[in-house]
Amino acid sequence: MTNGAQDPIRNFTARAMLRIHCPFCGVRDHSEFTYGGDASIVYPPLDAGADEWHDAVFLRENVRGLQSETWHHVNGCRMWLIVERDTMTHEIVSVRPAHEGCATATSGDGKGEGQ
Ligand SMILES: [Zn+2]
Repeated sequence: MTNGAQDPIRNFTARAMLRIHCPFCGVRDHSEFTYGGDASIVYPPLDAGADEWHDAVFLRENVRGLQSETWHHVNGCRMWLIVERDTMTHEIVSVRPAHEGCATATSGDGKGEGQ
């Protein structure tokens, strides 16, 4: 058994809340967000069979390390984000808008493309 100083999960929970840098609002506590799930899932076409839909909806990898996740900034800008987070250390490597058209709102003249 490891002690708290060597266990990244226990060390994290004892020290800090997860902080997510929303590209629209800035750094916020994770309590402003809801977790949306694994961002790497590719859903099948609507007319796909039940087995294919079952696998897409219910089967998930239990990733140990870097994982892409969707998060909804429900108590902020209400945008969906793709967050790359290490599941062992909770370190967030990157955050970007989930919808490509929204990415332009965070760069350039800030006017976006109106999507
Ligand atoms: Zn936001």
